[in-house]
Amino acid sequence: MTTLDSLERTLRQQVEATTSSAKQPLSDAQYSAGFGILGGGSGGRTYQDFIIPQLSQLLAPLFDSCGSISALEIGPGATSILGHLPNHLRRKVRRYTAFEPNSLFATRLGESFSSPSKAELLLPCLETPPNIHPISFTLQGDTTSGIGTGDNDEKFDLILFCHSMYGMKPKTKFIERALAMLDEQNLAMAVVIHRDSIYLDGLVCHQTASFPTGVVRVADDDESLGCFATFIAGFTLEDRSLDKAVQTNSPEVMMAFTKHATALSELTAKVPLEKGNPTVKNWEARLHRPISVVRPTEVRHVQQCVRWALVHKVGLTVVGGGHSGHCLMSNVVAINMGAFDQVHILAVEQEGTDSRPDGDIVSKTMAAGVTVPLGARPSVGAGLWLQGGIGHQARLHGLACDAIVGAVLVSVKSGEVLYVGIVPSQHRPTDAVCPENEDDLMWAIKGAGSNFGIVISVTFKALPDPTYLVEERVFPLSDSLEAQLTLSNLDSVFTKLSRNCSADAYLYWDAGQLQLGVTTFEASMTPLASARSATKYIDGFWGDCRRKVVNSVGLFETDLYLSGMHGGHARGKTFAFKRCLFLKHIGDENVAGRLLAAVQSRPTPLCYLHLLHGGEAVSDVAREETAFGCRDWEFACVITGVWSRDQDDTEAAQAAMRWVYHVAEDLLPVSSGAYGADLGPDPRDAALARNAFGPNRPRLARLKHSLDPRNVLAYACPLPKAPTEPKLIILVTGKSGTGKDYCASVWVSIFNEHAHKSLTARAVSISDKIKREYAAAKDADLKRLLEDRCYKEKHRPALTRFYLDQMHQRPQLREEHFLDVVHSSVNVDVLFITGMRDEAPVAAFSHLVPDRRLLEVHVQASKTTRRARRECPSGDDDVGEDSMSTRPALDYCPHLIFDNEAIGTETARRFAEQYLLPFVHMDLQRLATMVRSVPGFPRPGIEFRHVLAIVQQPGGLALCSSLLHTHFSSDWAKVGAIVSCEAGGFVFASPLALRVSVPLVLIREAGKLPPPTVSVSTPRSHISTWTFNNPKEKQIEMEHCVVREGMSLVVVDDVLATGRTLCAILHLLRKAEVSVDDVSVMVVAEFPVHRGRELLRERGFGGVRIQSLLVFGGT
Ligand SMILES: Cc1cc2nc3c(=O)[nH]c(=O)nc-3n(C[C@H](O)[C@H](O)[C@H](O)COP(=O)(O)OP(=O)(O)OC[C@H]3O[C@@H](n4cnc5c(N)ncnc54)[C@H](O)[C@@H]3O)c2cc1C
Repeated sequence: MTTLDSLERTLRQQVEATTSSAKQPLSDAQYSAGFGILGGGSGGRTYQDFIIPQLSQLLAPLFDSCGSISALEIGPGATSILGHLPNHLRRKVRRYTAFEPNSLFATRLGESFSSPSKAELLLPCLETPPNIHPISFTLQGDTTSGIGTGDNDEKFDLILFCHSMYGMKPKTKFIERALAMLDEQNLAMAVVIHRDSIYLDGLVCHQTASFPTGVVRVADDDESLGCFATFIAGFTLEDRSLDKAVQTNSPEVMMAFTKHATALSELTAKVPLEKGNPTVKNWEARLHRPISVVRPTEVRHVQQCVRWALVHKVGLTVVGGGHSGHCLMSNVVAINMGAFDQVHILAVEQEGTDSRPDGDIVSKTMAAGVTVPLGARPSVGAGLWLQGGIGHQARLHGLACDAIVGAVLVSVKSGEVLYVGIVPSQHRPTDAVCPENEDDLMWAIKGAGSNFGIVISVTFKALPDPTYLVEERVFPLSDSLEAQLTLSNLDSVFTKLSRNCSADAYLYWDAGQLQLGVTTFEASMTPLASARSATKYIDGFWGDCRRKVVNSVGLFETDLYLSGMHGGHARGKTFAFKRCLFLKHIGDENVAGRLLAAVQSRPTPLCYLHLLHGGEAVSDVAREETAFGCRDWEFACVITGVWSRDQDDTEAAQAAMRWVYHVAEDLLPVSSGAYGADLGPDPRDAALARNAFGPNRPRLARLKHSLDPRNVLAYACPLPKAPTEPKLIILVTGKSGTGKDYCASVWVSIFNEHAHKSLTARAVSISDKIKREYAAAKDADLKRLLEDRCYKEKHRPALTRFYLDQMHQRPQLREEHFLDVVHSSVNVDVLFITGMRDEAPVAAFSHLVPDRRLLEVHVQASKTTRRARRECPSGDDDVGEDSMSTRPALDYCPHLIFDNEAIGTETARRFAEQYLLPFVHMDLQRLATMVRSVPGFPRPGIEFRHVLAIVQQPGGLALCSSLLHTHFSSDWAKVGAIVSCEAGGFVFASPLALRVSVPLVLIREAGKLPPPTVSVSTPRSHISTWTFNNPKEKQIEMEHCVVREGMSLVVVDDVLATGRTLCAILHLLRKAEVSVDDVSVMVVAEFPVHRGRELLRERGFGGVRIQSLLVFGGT
């Protein structure tokens, strides 16, 4: 099989060699025949499996950001591609234009819109009839329609080159033309779908994806071959130039370009460029054509790259040792980290840098008498130790990532320089800051490090450097039975080896038969004559061997594939493609059988399986301790597809790759995971990536979402999209028998019915978790405990004792249970939690979910009602779930209180409509988008949320006051005054006071109001103490006479963070003889991470009702 590109080249050469063919425009019939061939074969599957899902994902942010979309399709054929998108996206398309040069297709396309039944299925919300031009899209524009001819052109949100850009030359000019026709104001984009790889000179792509398994087949008849040649090469073949059916590999490529596509010069003006192309090792990466390769020499260059990528919303690739296929991607900027190549050995630590090959680090450390466990090959770079690092020292010293104790990296969220863990001060850049989430970042770097930042340097813990006795044996295996038996023997012997011994196996075909190569490595700190305690009994099984003694550098040269296999790996004249899975028992019939079948089915003679030994130090580290979550394996099986270099771009190379994926697919069910290194955006890697990080995938997904929110590192090992966890969490509390679960179920149905039908709500009971643990420990019937009220009542005292006992043993139990319930509620937007046993749960838990809104609705009912509702009265009304609580009665103010006296759902429904649904109203989201985030202000590492920026947006202040007005959960008519403190409070309180016709009480810094005043001292806000050299405290005061006892007051402020300002205001009001029972608070934005509610409660203001419009996770 060839590629379409090479086929086109061949055809052209052929035509140029014969004068019989003239370049001429295609007839409609030729065009449709060629088009049909291109779209046929695997084409249908490509659309279903790749184009439509990828396009839907790509377009979602654009479509979400616009009320309506104006789309232009270029060459859609007889049907619109957009018409295949999911319904919610299709409904957004309000204007549709197409250029379809084939008149037959253009007619059919028009008909598809004019038939009412079909049109409804295509783009149902078009505001104007579709505008279909039966002509080509040209660089000059269409003079008949006027489209693309002048400054007054219609602008589009989306321009789609639907089915390849054949015939459009130069392609770059056509994209530039499309970019000029894009709307300036939004995320407008031009998307190219093209058969075969495509490089567009000078244009940076916003996103790219490829579906590499596409194939185009042309039937072996004159007509088909002629049509196809004509279509692809753009001319008519007079002779029969193709004498057999054509089958070409034809990956489908999708590339999106935005108006930022031409921004490359902004970067290249600031950052040094690589001279020539970097010599990456990986053959696949060599096929990709990055738009530019930069070679930063200073940390600030890396920062400039990241900031440029963030501004222009594009991804980057990073080149370490260049061994992975995705360190270069076509039309994407690559950062070659080759200049960061120093190794420093320090008294207690050693530091390697990100691109220095393993061999250099090892030789330097060895000279100092220590070592770092790196991989088995000397030339591999930072990608290895950031993503794992399996080598011959793994059993003794662990993985390379286990030895990481610190790192310096550039954040791909903000461009700041961060350091985590131990970084010796002399190697810490002066502007490096330690981020708040240091533990998370450190955890993620150890095993998934290519996804979370651009790593500048790594500090490794050094370990004693032993000497190694290496023994090499090769066993020819005559048949499958012998092979199976030998693998089984090998397995049982290998598992007995002590920690300082490790054994690798190779399964390959040579000299006409299956071969098993075994290399054992015995590490020793003592002279080797007295070593061989552990491997000696291998002799009992397998007799003689080649033996040598090596140091840590010599260890790199001991791989059998270098020394013995296939005459020394075909003397380096090969390319290889690898994927790696983890196996436990290679001697198991089921595993061994698959391994042997794999070698037997090798498509080229050089393909082999390499089994690297694990266990011991690798599995000593708990799965959750580092991001590298696959720890439970004895062998890492590297499936290695090899072909000779002269077979590149041929069927042999393709077949070797297919074999690797096929074997990986076959082994996956018997494996205990896959190795994340080498996995990239290729959709064939998706199944392996799903098995890459063991139980750590959900945490990694969440971290990717927070540490690389713009997906700057878009081409690293794929992580799942962060599961959408609930944005609104409502704790339904109340005494036993008040009907909490019932209310929660009614409210769930209201959300599911009402909120634009786009939200999912669910209710869960947090006490189910403890009931499960109780049932398991005490042999109780879990089903009855969950469902049978009388049974539950019977067990309640014992359950309570069990709970308190667990609390005693695990003081964090409540937090653990709470987070467990939240994290396991994936793809739920609104979560109701019942069964809470905690007092003031919002104050206690909101910092654990700082970017979600946590509300408490307290359900209450009279004693009689509660008793009547109980199916199994326990006698004492207050013994219920509350009996596990430490609080005697409610001593704080929940957000909302619901009186559940009435029978039926009506009152509960009305309550939800009035008080709960407003929390998911679009207006709140609109207000949230007006709060600008400013990274690095007022100091590095802080992301400042500029709440006052709301008033700088058109309509911002009006929207905010309207929301403060409507969200207030009491009656404005009963409010005597709005109290506010300068300056943020004044801004939002004034228009609100005007709106609700309530007087305003002003609190100012001391000395600015006429006497008589009352005053208190207050600490400055945490932001202003960082910003200026302000004294830590200030006095605030108010006029005494403006409030009076018994007056109902609402304090309005811009922000609730630490709660100290609010405490001071409440103190002041108390001093002015206002009872805090008469005060409630409304703030525009709350930052739960600072635990302001907790402080207020501690200071005696737990009874004050506090409402906030917005909730933010940062500062
Ligand atoms: C011949 C060969 C031998 C191998 N031997 C071993 C082995 O013995 N043990 C083992 O565990 N693995 C081995 N591997 C797999 C190897 O670990 C991966 O291919 C690894 O990704 C290579 O890292 P690299 O830096 O050389 O490659 P690159 O392609 O440059 O980088 C790989 C990934 O890491 C990212 N990356 C690189 N540098 C940085 C940085 N500074 N900051 C952030 N991200 C970065 C890249 O963006 C890319 O996603 C081998 C691979 C090959 C081809």
